[in-house]
Amino acid sequence: PYTGLTFEQASDLRKRHVGPATVTYYKKPLMIQQGHMQWLFDDKNNRYLDMFAGIVTVSVGHCHPHVLKAAEDQLKKLWHTTNIYLHPTIHEYAAKLTSKMPGNLKVAYFVNSGSEANDLAMLMSRLYTGNFDILSLRNGYHGMSPYTMGLTSLSNWKYNLANGFGVHPIVNPDPYRGPWGGPNCRDSPCTVGKRAGENTCTCGGKDCKAALQYADQIKDHIIHATHGKVAGFFAESIQGVGGTVQFPNGYLKKAYEIVRERGGVCIADEVQTGFGRLGSHFWGFETHGVIPDIVTMAKGIGNGWPLAAVVTTPEIAKTLAQKLTFNTYGGNPVACAVGKATLEVMEQENTQENSKVVGTHLLQLLDGIRQRHPQIVGDVRGKGLMIGVEFVHEQDPNRPASQVCADVFEMARDRGVLLGKGGLYGNVLRIKPPMIVTREDVEFAAAVIEEAIQKLGY
Ligand code: PMP
Repeated sequence: PYTGLTFEQASDLRKRHVGPATVTYYKKPLMIQQGHMQWLFDDKNNRYLDMFAGIVTVSVGHCHPHVLKAAEDQLKKLWHTTNIYLHPTIHEYAAKLTSKMPGNLKVAYFVNSGSEANDLAMLMSRLYTGNFDILSLRNGYHGMSPYTMGLTSLSNWKYNLANGFGVHPIVNPDPYRGPWGGPNCRDSPCTVGKRAGENTCTCGGKDCKAALQYADQIKDHIIHATHGKVAGFFAESIQGVGGTVQFPNGYLKKAYEIVRERGGVCIADEVQTGFGRLGSHFWGFETHGVIPDIVTMAKGIGNGWPLAAVVTTPEIAKTLAQKLTFNTYGGNPVACAVGKATLEVMEQENTQENSKVVGTHLLQLLDGIRQRHPQIVGDVRGKGLMIGVEFVHEQDPNRPASQVCADVFEMARDRGVLLGKGGLYGNVLRIKPPMIVTREDVEFAAAVIEEAIQKLGY
């Protein structure tokens, strides 16, 4: 039985001593006191199916026994040295992590959060290219440090002060709400874009001009808004916080070509999409057929332990050596032991394959819900276990049904299913569970979502 603070005691302390902007989910916040694999338990020992994984972070399950043992063993031996000394775990882990990367992406810098990883990637792109301007996609999220708040291109995550000087947010290749592709496509109606479980047109097929039209925006922007050359281009492989936005196939390939022609390097933010979550590939960028110059990663890398990394080529990594670079906790022994054990679980339990099989099943179940409730479910999209359900009125992307989304989100919690919510209008359910969820789990979650939609009268 749970014997800690009561909900009321914790709420009272929170009001007085925790920063008031710290986001909590739900009208009445949840107090979670324990986790086991895909399950969470509150202060009354109610059990919840965690379909959001602490924001896509608990990749292989809460307190997974193999990861837990690795952390315990390392804690007993050595917690901390900083990298002024060698310690074995960082080297073993760096070799294992980079063995997962294609091409010449063979060198890692370790840090503690996604924001720090993106900060470092910005710095390296500028030092390596000698250029300053950086492109990021509108609707993207890359962090909240002063540098990365500039990369982040969602007004609800930006304060009214100078941030990210030199960063240019460019037109988002969003085929659902953007000018090209999906229901708004200005070209002839697309016949190949809609596949089971992927309602949004991301086809990039020969009749689809959306990918090229969006990529042209990059060229146009570089020509008009910079001195003609750029340092780098940041993109998530599927936008996470922005509401599971997928790009038209072929877009990133074309974007990378344009950016490289203009002297820049290409940076893949794999903080949400990496480590097999998309099912078909281990890295999200691989689903676009590109190899970046720099990859940033956090969240799922450490199954919830503070750990993040930047992986790049030896040439780009070397640029930092012109000065001293330092990060007290980056690559600490416990984080590296946890990161290595997390990769081992991914291999031993083939969580990528589970993402593919169970994720595709869930996408199909949700697409069935979209078809049965077209007056309120506008789009179901995603890949593997990174899924979005967008609520709009009467199939009109310009009429986001934010309140319906909020109601479904609350009602699912009451039935023991924790979901995420996002998108600029807060009208997209974000579903990204630990990659060990089962068919039965996702069938239950889908049934709970449909029950809520029906209860709301749709
Ligand atoms: N990049 C992406 C794609 C993210 O989703 C996030 C966090 N939501 C970050 C970067 C920033 O990570 P952190 O909160 O660890 O700084």
